[in-house]
Amino acid sequence: MDFDAVVIGSGPGGYVCAIKLAQLGMKTACIEKEALGGTCLNVGCIPSKSLLQSSEMYYKTVHDLESHGIHTGEVTFEYEKMQSRKSGIVHSFTQGIAGLFKKNKVTHIQGTAEFTGPNTCSVDGKDITAKYFVIATGSTPTSLPFLPIDEKEIVSSTGALAFPSVPKKLLVVGAGIIGVELGSVYARLGAEVSVIEYLDRITPTLDVSLSKALQKSLTKQGLTFHLSSKVVGLEKQNDEWLLEVEGGKTHAGDKILVAIGRKPYTEGLGLDAAGVERDESGKIRINGRFQTNQPHIYAIGDVVDGPMLAHKASEEGIAVAEILTGTSTSLSYITIPSVVYTEPEVASVGFTEEEVKEQNIPYVASQFPFKANSRAKCVGEEEGFVKLLAHKETGHILGGHIIGAHAGELIQEVAVSMKARMTAHELASTSHAHPTLSESIKEAALALFSKAIHV
Ligand SMILES: Cc1cc2nc3c(=O)[nH]c(=O)nc-3n(C[C@H](O)[C@H](O)[C@H](O)COP(=O)(O)OP(=O)(O)OC[C@H]3O[C@@H](n4cnc5c(N)ncnc54)[C@H](O)[C@@H]3O)c2cc1C
Repeated sequence: MDFDAVVIGSGPGGYVCAIKLAQLGMKTACIEKEALGGTCLNVGCIPSKSLLQSSEMYYKTVHDLESHGIHTGEVTFEYEKMQSRKSGIVHSFTQGIAGLFKKNKVTHIQGTAEFTGPNTCSVDGKDITAKYFVIATGSTPTSLPFLPIDEKEIVSSTGALAFPSVPKKLLVVGAGIIGVELGSVYARLGAEVSVIEYLDRITPTLDVSLSKALQKSLTKQGLTFHLSSKVVGLEKQNDEWLLEVEGGKTHAGDKILVAIGRKPYTEGLGLDAAGVERDESGKIRINGRFQTNQPHIYAIGDVVDGPMLAHKASEEGIAVAEILTGTSTSLSYITIPSVVYTEPEVASVGFTEEEVKEQNIPYVASQFPFKANSRAKCVGEEEGFVKLLAHKETGHILGGHIIGAHAGELIQEVAVSMKARMTAHELASTSHAHPTLSESIKEAALALFSKAIHV
């Protein structure tokens, strides 16, 4: 055997798994056909958050500083610099993973992995054997037959992260997380952004109250939403694209971002030669221990079922490393948070109110507005609220939903409370520093079974 374990793919699932395996004493290799870091680092989480930050700073400088008594002259931006800052951040993290591999003695193999049988993987013609394989090959964007992605004018998120200039009129097909995040970036920088969504609400995985609040806020920022609109065709007229929706209406734009979802990526991996089964949607089938139908081949991350999130992939990577080395492991999917990095930010963990209703779980719900929070007032971030759900009989926290400044950081407190199986009373009776935004979580917890103090 060349290695104890070979991990295929170096996204947040694969690279974390490889490092953990090596730390736990396994002779490990990680095969990657592109740059280290996968979707997340190269064309996902990191570049999108970099552009979101730059565009938000510009937008806030133009719109918010006056209220603090700060006057500026004309505020301009250099889009190329935002792009090069983004590329610099991505590059530094890629180098960082190479350094972590070196430090932890993970062998990095550059090339495309293809199973030639259940026990052998070939990388560009060279066979590699291992006791265990972990497939972490991620996902790619999906499109529609009449929306052929060329990554120039009709783009996936990958092309939208690298537009050579700010589009004049951007049409976004799909109001999921990627659609509203990238739509926000270009709306802040002056593009006319129209988002066309098949469903009757935006960000459909969120609690409905958050979807509605986010849509209201983004609309105020200039994004236009066309809901319950099925895109059925595309035509080019002069220099503009015309997207046709069912019913005959058309929407015009110079660029189209197709953000209708992602599909598992297993192209060229030789899964048939390895005898690894997939489900109808192309995801690799696994059992509760991440094992495929080939007991020595495991799979994690976007290529298997579950939310397509970087931290979910990483948690699964660590879990597999622990399973393979006999260390105990526990992964609680319900406490995996999800964040939308718009302005305001939106974050969610656990059950939504719609889910607890659907499952007939007896529950209580509370909501505490940031406008009643002193820190939020001082920093000028009064928009939004904290919503908590708890079991009506046991008092255990069932879910947390936050829209407002730093929601993505605040949600961790609710995630930890849920993981520790804390009750609303225990959360409410924990001292929170004053003045902090997190006091809103304490207040919402108080309001579950009693009353909040400040409303
Ligand atoms: C625009 C955008 C923004 C996002 N923002 C967030 C966010 O803010 N937070 C969040 O949690 N998630 C976010 N995501 C989702 C996140 O990027 C994915 O969930 C995550 O990257 C999945 O990790 P993974 O390890 O499963 O796969 P990936 O990151 O997709 O990595 C798979 C790797 O496998 C390699 N590979 C594939 N086949 C082979 C082969 N045969 N041989 C060798 N290598 C191979 C690929 O080149 C790739 O590098 C975002 C995604 C996008 C597109």
